[in-house]
Amino acid sequence: MPPRYAVFGQPITHSLSPRIHAMFAAQFGIALDYRAIEVGREDFTSALDAFARDGGRGANVTLPLKERAFALCARTSEEARRAGSVNTLIRNGDEWRGDSTDGAGLLRDLHQRHGFEPHGRCCLLLGAGGAARAVAFALADAGVGELVIANRTPERASALADAIGTAPRMRACAWDELATMRDFDLVVNATAAGHAGNRLDLPTTLLAPATLCYDLSYGSPAIAFLVWARATGATRVSDGLGMLIEQAAESFALWHGHRPETAPVYAELRANPDCRSSPDQVRGRL
Ligand code: NDP
Repeated sequence: MPPRYAVFGQPITHSLSPRIHAMFAAQFGIALDYRAIEVGREDFTSALDAFARDGGRGANVTLPLKERAFALCARTSEEARRAGSVNTLIRNGDEWRGDSTDGAGLLRDLHQRHGFEPHGRCCLLLGAGGAARAVAFALADAGVGELVIANRTPERASALADAIGTAPRMRACAWDELATMRDFDLVVNATAAGHAGNRLDLPTTLLAPATLCYDLSYGSPAIAFLVWARATGATRVSDGLGMLIEQAAESFALWHGHRPETAPVYAELRANPDCRSSPDQVRGRL
């Protein structure tokens, strides 16, 4: 029987992770059984125990289980500890080891597909949830010149900025204060607003024509932010499909010891109708 891997979350039916990991495994001739397992917070611990008893060797974890996964790990990476969440579980004897590959996934996508180097650049991060935390630390490590964090619940943005430290380079701002800010090099939408069909209220002055506007989500939840960015004059917009594939490649490397090629997987998934939030598709909606 092939070794077992899975992604846990709720909802999970539309997850691309089983397809992504099947394509990665095919590159190395690795046989694996990777499934999506729908489970909520209440039943996650027992579902993960059952998965381990059935020979589960590794798992990805997504909304709303990342913090719970962190709490269940016997050991965690520094990235996971800083993010306060785990998106990759590795079976180690009879324990789980936890890692967070979201930050590395974003940096890889920014570098490889967008030619964007964060070092010295002026960045705005919208959101202060699990993904935003991972992204904020990754951008700080990459040497951003300035990182401003705004969140619907301002206390969470302040707590994140404090956790990173090195003020005034890293700082929280109130959502209203965004109206006084101009011309960021990078604006990352790490909120989950698009999933509920909500639009963010953002001033147009945040963007210059060369600003890279990046939404961590992909498919329909990313459309509202990317359409706003295009309408505001940004020429560079991206959804989070590339980040999704790059963070999956990091997980794959942790489990199997090989880093897969991501370009062919990106090309294939970008052609998938479920992933329609690419720049051209966004432009077509204006
Ligand atoms: P969390 O639930 O941990 O955080 C959600 C964030 O969104 C919080 O900051 C919350 O603010 C904010 N938010 C929610 N609704 C609204 C709204 N209506 N208006 C303004 N802000 C809102 O989620 P995650 O951090 O795990 O995920 C965030 C996004 O990142 C999702 O779209 C997810 O799909 C995406 N993601 C993409 C990945 C990829 O590989 N491409 C990987 C991980 C996540 P508040 O604090 O006030 O509640």
